[in-house]
Amino acid sequence: MNNMKILFFSLITYGLVQTFLSDTVFAQGDNTQIPFTIVIHGGAGTITKESMTAEKEEAYRAKLTEALNAGYAILESGGSSIDAITLAITIMEDSPLFNAGKGAVFTSEGKNELDASIMEGKSRMAGAVAGITNIKNPILAAKAVMEKSQHVLLTGKGAEIFAEQHGLEVVDPEYFYTERRYKSLERAKQMENEEGSFIINNHTDSKFGTVGALALDKYGNLAAGTSTGGMTNKKYGRVGDSPVIGAGTFADNNSCAVSATGHGEYFIRYVVSYDVAARMIYLNETVKQAAETVVNSKLKEVGGSGGVIALDNDGNIAMPFNTSGMYRGFKKQGKKAKVYIYKD
Ligand code: ASP
Repeated sequence: MNNMKILFFSLITYGLVQTFLSDTVFAQGDNTQIPFTIVIHGGAGTITKESMTAEKEEAYRAKLTEALNAGYAILESGGSSIDAITLAITIMEDSPLFNAGKGAVFTSEGKNELDASIMEGKSRMAGAVAGITNIKNPILAAKAVMEKSQHVLLTGKGAEIFAEQHGLEVVDPEYFYTERRYKSLERAKQMENEEGSFIINNHTDSKFGTVGALALDKYGNLAAGTSTGGMTNKKYGRVGDSPVIGAGTFADNNSCAVSATGHGEYFIRYVVSYDVAARMIYLNETVKQAAETVVNSKLKEVGGSGGVIALDNDGNIAMPFNTSGMYRGFKKQGKKAKVYIYKD
């Protein structure tokens, strides 16, 4: 009888230990505690309901949702945050709707010069390209710089040669021509003659249109990326904030990931993306408080129009902007994708 009791208790103990072990292993390999999330933007600017047709709005919503779902699928299947944001950004770069890749705006010389950057929150590795004219997906070039070079930022011809050598798709610069963006250039030139300002800023039909993405993966790693054609009618090799780490893009697992869109000169001078992360670290602010203060107090006070998306290491999201609209959306673990354009 005693032997039976010992056997019985041994079996129970064995069962409990097995359950504990398998739970522990499961938690390490596929951490269900981390609410994996993807957040994107498609640019901030003067985007009003009055200036939008139902078809155009639907097209934007559909493309943003497609990008969110594609990036989310990578996270769900255990992929990395870097791979998720890269895919989401290439989908937006391939669409003429956004000022990045295919839909990039024109320089004053009638060319398209593209900028992009990417950053990983775990290692704080980063890569960026500026002023490239013939690489189909600038975000892939930024990723190649991060992963395959010893540098952070490559520009112009050198960046193009590097991207080509690493097998990225090269296109004829004509690929980036879209009639809509060309017309914006013509309007900007007209304004320049009339008003002396050479960059389209708060003109009623202008929008910035840069794209960006952030993700938190199942392993707790954050990543951020941004891609743009810059600003219409830019001159003299002008580079904005988007390829500048700390200004247009930032990621650190200890705080948050940020991607910005707006008037780049302000975003560089106010080191916007890093400022959001720094406020969290040094002032103990939440991601919402930090992003809101930077965009709707600090930038707004000095006339820096635009917005940011920010995601912290617990999956909390902030998407403030000080313009009339910002294409944006997110998808959280197990939830449907949400997409927004205007205030509210
Ligand atoms: N920030 C970009 C730049 O200044 C423009 C944008 O966000 O649309 O180049």
